[in-house]
Amino acid sequence: MSKAADEHTEDASTQRQNGNRAAGQRLSRTEPQQPSKKQFALTLDLENDWYFDEPGYDHLTFEYIDDFIELIDRLSVPLSIFVVGKTLEQYPEVIDRLDTELDTEFHLHSYRHEPTTNSFREELKLGKEAFRNHFGHDPIGYREPYGDIDPAQFPVLADEGFLFDSSVFPSYRPGVYSNLDTPLEPYVIEGVPDLLEIPLGVFRGVRIPLSQNYLKLFGRPLIELLSVAPLPNTLVYNVHLQDLYRTDSHENLPGMKRRIMGRNLDRSVEILEESVDRIRSKGYEPAKITDIHSYHLHLKQ
Ligand SMILES: [Zn+2]
Repeated sequence: MSKAADEHTEDASTQRQNGNRAAGQRLSRTEPQQPSKKQFALTLDLENDWYFDEPGYDHLTFEYIDDFIELIDRLSVPLSIFVVGKTLEQYPEVIDRLDTELDTEFHLHSYRHEPTTNSFREELKLGKEAFRNHFGHDPIGYREPYGDIDPAQFPVLADEGFLFDSSVFPSYRPGVYSNLDTPLEPYVIEGVPDLLEIPLGVFRGVRIPLSQNYLKLFGRPLIELLSVAPLPNTLVYNVHLQDLYRTDSHENLPGMKRRIMGRNLDRSVEILEESVDRIRSKGYEPAKITDIHSYHLHLKQ
């Protein structure tokens, strides 16, 4: 398996940090006012499963695309998709199906998904080009692979025309990010007034990410917690196809990660259905991530 396939290794993030991290720059530490509207956005990171770049492991979960379309249709929620530039170039027909058969919108999730010698700006430019070639317009939203966004990258995003970023997990992950004191609700990036950060959802207090891979890993206790625990009013819930469907790529993961990611994998679809139900019954309005962006722009004025 490729080294880059294990997102828990420190290699990827260390490389990124050496290449990008500017000393002393930090994410915002000021909690914005809690918005009165409760909005819930389901997001999908559309990429090669587990980022394998080897023959025989190319987007294997795409064989489940019919099931996935049926699932989202059944959930009856809009879907905001962060797509990798190379995936977009390789599988335009899959993108077209998601675009036309579901209530979706698309944003960018890097060009290659993996650390490269290219600068962040070069990667963005390549990603934008792939996006523009397919959709005929530039992306306005961005998500960095592994949630490993660097504050020095925010001005570059704004300069490249992005209006919002949704990369920050206000949580902690050894060797990748440490954001235990960043805001849980959307906030304007300090010094970059035209860029809104829409952080990924976490449980208030414990700050466990509210995403499919965590719900799947912790199972019943965390699903139950959804109904009783305090949550941010803006809830971004993220899924990957590999969180929902088992393929040979899963078997290609290294031992520990294979066990972690395999837990409850065969009932992951039901877990997503139940989680969305529980979120809705707490009064959240299903929204696209651009609805959240527009709402917060309006609050700012
Ligand atoms: Zn990703």
